[in-house]
Amino acid sequence: MERRIYGIETEYGIRYIPKSLGHLGPEETARKLFKPVVDTWRSTNVFLPNGGRLYLDVGSHPEYATAETATLRDLITHDKAGEYLFNDLINQAEDSLEDENLTGTIYLFKNNVDSADNSYGSHENYMLERKVEFAKLVASLIPFLITRQIIVGAGKTHPAGPPAWGTQPGISAEPSYSFSQRADHIWEGSSTATTRSRPLINTRDEPHADASLYRRLHVINGDSNMSQTTTLLKIGATDLVLRMLEERYPLKDFAVKDTATALRTISHDLTGTARFALADGGEISALEMQRHYLESARAFVEIKGEHHQDVAYVLDLWTRTLDAIEAGDFSTIDTEIDWAIKKKLLDAYIARGASGYDDPRIAQLDLAYHDIDPRRGVYNLLASRGQAKTVVSEQEIARAAIHPPETRAKLRGAFINAARNAGEQFTVDWVHMKLNAYPQHTVMCKDPFATESEDVQALIKVLDGIAPSTSWAPPFI
Ligand code: ATP
Ligand code: MG
Ligand code: MG
Repeated sequence: MERRIYGIETEYGIRYIPKSLGHLGPEETARKLFKPVVDTWRSTNVFLPNGGRLYLDVGSHPEYATAETATLRDLITHDKAGEYLFNDLINQAEDSLEDENLTGTIYLFKNNVDSADNSYGSHENYMLERKVEFAKLVASLIPFLITRQIIVGAGKTHPAGPPAWGTQPGISAEPSYSFSQRADHIWEGSSTATTRSRPLINTRDEPHADASLYRRLHVINGDSNMSQTTTLLKIGATDLVLRMLEERYPLKDFAVKDTATALRTISHDLTGTARFALADGGEISALEMQRHYLESARAFVEIKGEHHQDVAYVLDLWTRTLDAIEAGDFSTIDTEIDWAIKKKLLDAYIARGASGYDDPRIAQLDLAYHDIDPRRGVYNLLASRGQAKTVVSEQEIARAAIHPPETRAKLRGAFINAARNAGEQFTVDWVHMKLNAYPQHTVMCKDPFATESEDVQALIKVLDGIAPSTSWAPPFI
């Protein structure tokens, strides 16, 4: 595709630490967090004026899905806007807890595994053209996704060494650090399930667009990233591989024999050289495989040209990350790649006296890296000190909490604001906009690139006609 639609969904871990008597479990805390959302929108599942979706499913993992974006910069900005919005909700929830004489702190973690070893996801969405042979593309993408963790994993400490899986014992009981959070929790290549067997790619056919023209590729094995540059590399490199597959650029046809084993072997080997089995009887390492995709992408870009402003940076960071792993010297990427930024910090603490990756203070610091609080969260502290590189500004992020990107999200946002303003009940999803009192006027927008629509304009005009004179000023929540 020349232009592509992207979206990221993030599930967060939640915890309440009381400063006074009274404890709240994760589910109760999540409900408190969503109280302002319910007060304003009467639901825990809402689309916002910025086109994104906030929601609390059964269970206790608040989720934010970015609006559909058409550039990587917008995607990063809107992903970060999710953290911004949740931080605002935390502040509101803590204030209202105080009114109930509960003083304490609510933590949200943008990571993928909690202390009880439950895993929660980060979903990447890439729009594809329907005419692409989907099953073939998925099969060809899987080896890239299995090895991608060495460049874009969020890093994880293992106090008792790599976990055992299936009938295999853990590799060693030595405390260790892995590239990825999610790798230990994924079991197969692709399927329609998201939870039971946890595949890399969810193949459920829900394009959120004109189904005769488009498909949505739903990648569910990635780690959530704190680092903006890591997100840029994650989505940017995956987009390049997708472009090569879409254009039938010749790539080696790898097929990995056992997805679950390969994922875990790769994640727990920081040298990138551990070998895993291919279906044809051969063996390969993650570094070798990633080198193949990188060199192919570089040659592809030379022929096709750079299709966005960050292509050169994506290729450069991809190269430096593989070089760093090969050299065993991560200092060239330790402000840009999550697992390396966090490892540098943890290793500095160990050098200053912590006992190792099994020290409880190290586990605490590992978790604190993912704390979304702008002042307390360790990634955020590093970013504010220039020790983690950023690509978008805080002003852009704050703006994205309220304003939609230049896609169909703009229509959705305008409709939501107009309906709110008029005090009319409405229902929206990624494609539809409906006023509950006038269902016959439901507008369907199947083109996610559309930023203008006569139908939506007409609907908004009707709403403006019934809007009260004192207009509703939209705070985002
Ligand atoms: P689940 O939450 O069960 O995984 P889902 O993936 O359909 O279901 P949402 O949480 O609603 O759920 O998120 C959809 C994501 O798809 C959003 O990030 C959105 O920006 C993105 N998206 C919307 N339209 C398109 C499209 N046409 N192509 C690709 N992505 C899209
Ligand atoms: Mg979702
Ligand atoms: Mg999803």
